[in-house]
Amino acid sequence: MARKVLVLGEVRDGALRNVSFEALSAGKVISEGGEVVGVLVGKSVSALGQEFIQYGASRVVVVEHAELAQYTSDGYSQALLAVIEEEKPEGLVFGHTALGKDLSPRIAGKLNSGLISDATAIEVAGGNVVFTRPIYSGKAFEKKIVTEGLIFATVRPNNIPALPKDESLSGEVNSLTVDIKDLRTIIKEVVRKASEGVDLSEAKVVIAGGRGVKSEEGFKPLKELATVLGGAVGASRGACDAEYCDYSLQIGQTGKVVTPDLYIACGISGAIQHLAGMSNSKVIVAINKDPEANIFKVADYGIVGDLFEVVPLLTEEFKKLKI
Ligand code: FAD
Repeated sequence: MARKVLVLGEVRDGALRNVSFEALSAGKVISEGGEVVGVLVGKSVSALGQEFIQYGASRVVVVEHAELAQYTSDGYSQALLAVIEEEKPEGLVFGHTALGKDLSPRIAGKLNSGLISDATAIEVAGGNVVFTRPIYSGKAFEKKIVTEGLIFATVRPNNIPALPKDESLSGEVNSLTVDIKDLRTIIKEVVRKASEGVDLSEAKVVIAGGRGVKSEEGFKPLKELATVLGGAVGASRGACDAEYCDYSLQIGQTGKVVTPDLYIACGISGAIQHLAGMSNSKVIVAINKDPEANIFKVADYGIVGDLFEVVPLLTEEFKKLKI
């Protein structure tokens, strides 16, 4: 059954986030040959419309407003609900990002719809669109179908491959005027945490440090390895609690969920709450002095040793490969 599906593109620092292209790819599956319409919300975002089309949107609807320069649940939900009212889609897809996690339940509530959050795979099987999503902190997966009404899902970054960009594609980018009003939250100023390099939740390589790094200084060799591999640095809560690094790096049940191609855990014991945030990484390498550490149970490759010896050796070897 062909469906019209709306896919929200997420813009950060003037560019579409990769998860938006993955959401488009999910939207294509849900549409079953129907129309996939991209939606861009913000202040000056229409210039990104053609790129969204090159990744698979049939056309793009843009809602621009000065009050949408920064994300607020109030402003974005007003914009999205207006587009939904206009387009009357049968499917809706957001990225399972901080923005998507905040906005999707609100939109689902307003529409009196269900929501399949954090989908890691989508397929059409037995005449249904079947979603796979983690349960019990990633220890198991469930399959879900929607039997009636809107098919609304958020997709976990780095799980559903984006379609390749086709620069020969072009299409309509239309504006929808929405009166954004009665905002209960006004963002006066955004103070960015100084973060270097690659975005942790979308990184293909994550080098994570635990209490075993022993100090803020101890993260230095991890940062060097991350730089050589074009990856991001993450951390266990143990490392964050010990003030070796900022909480924005925390991975796990109460931190970020990451699914990179390569996860290197350095001096992390592998508590269940940490595994909840990284156990679905494609390849896991664990470096730990303790051969009995729990992290080795989920690791594809284990190195029993001192991280301060092993990590610099890895960095030197990867440098030789000129990745
Ligand atoms: P430790 O358990 O102390 O492990 C340190 C490891 O480093 C040890 O295995 C040791 O052998 C090794 N080591 C030491 N020195 C070296 C060296 N030189 N070379 C190599 N290895 C070395 N934790 C999270 O990570 N994320 C979460 O989101 C999270 N949420 C939580 C939510 C709740 C409600 C609770 C109760 C806990 C949560 N935790 C979370 C905490 C979690 O239970 C663990 O306490 C924490 O993950 C431990 O961090 P760690 O592995 O860095 O430290």
